[in-house]
Amino acid sequence: FWEVSYNIAHLMQFIPVSIQAAAAVRHMQELLDEKTPISDKPGAAEMPRIVDNIAFERVSFAYEGAEQPVIDNLSLKLKAGKTIAIVGPSGSGKSTLLNMVLRLYDPTEGRISIDGVDIRNVTLDSLRRSMAVVFQENMLFNMSIRDNIRLGKEGATDAEVEQAAKKAEIHRYIMSLPQKYDTVVGERGDTLSGGQRQRIAIARAIVRDPSVLLLDEATSALDQTTEAAINKTLMKLARGRTMIFSTHRLTSVVDMDEIVVVSGGQAIERGSHKELLAKNGAYRKLWDDQKRHGAGDDDDDDDDDE
Ligand code: ADP
Ligand code: MG
Repeated sequence: FWEVSYNIAHLMQFIPVSIQAAAAVRHMQELLDEKTPISDKPGAAEMPRIVDNIAFERVSFAYEGAEQPVIDNLSLKLKAGKTIAIVGPSGSGKSTLLNMVLRLYDPTEGRISIDGVDIRNVTLDSLRRSMAVVFQENMLFNMSIRDNIRLGKEGATDAEVEQAAKKAEIHRYIMSLPQKYDTVVGERGDTLSGGQRQRIAIARAIVRDPSVLLLDEATSALDQTTEAAINKTLMKLARGRTMIFSTHRLTSVVDMDEIVVVSGGQAIERGSHKELLAKNGAYRKLWDDQKRHGAGDDDDDDDDDE
């Protein structure tokens, strides 16, 4: 299984672990063979670097076989160069929205555009080359740390890999290991704490120098100290890029330029943390609930260290 070709391993980084577990390599092979409905249109153009916005235009989406749409006539324009949080309770469709930007799924109705161009009209390769994604759990392959980071960019030089690790603030730790960048990390990454694994995943994302950085609950499984430290790194990495950060934990989003609250398949509120608190609406309610109870499910997992 782990003797994967570069192409499969490279594609893996775009697929959430939950989907990987379900269909793994078969799914990858289908993507590579383009048997899936998502493939390039004849004559698809290269996507230019994003300058102004990513827009969801009256987007609806239902999973195959599902009766209810997950996303229901949602319109949302996200300004390029900003840090944007997509928040909402589990199951509200945050991951679905991010996955649609990567074209893991296409809208059932409506369109997603970048600078006015429907993303279905550009090549998948150029679209995904401009983006990187970090999930809550990320595949680390049974190979060296260097090669794990290099999966982000085919042919990345050792210098580029190290530069990315420095930006992800994991270089010093790697250098402290006896084998340094040659350290082989297992699938389960036993040599690494949860926070360190996330930093390797961030290095893998950043070596691509993406114009759009997508983070899907990337810090949600970490203890609060590690979460705060990694969020600080991410905010630095967001400079000069568009960062879309989905989370159900609101402590992560207070400093973001804009927060979008998703509920019932729609974007129901947007604004800065301060603005949304003052609105006294859905965001305020989520915030107060989390102040009282914490963000729930994974809050007690505090065995990570930096
Ligand atoms: P969030 O990221 O906000 O927790 P998701 O986008 O993962 O929400 O899920 C939104 C809804 O879509 C949930 O009800 C979930 O059960 C459903 N869903 C997610 N992925 C799939 C899938 N691959 N097939 C069918 N339903 C799905
Ligand atoms: Mg999710």
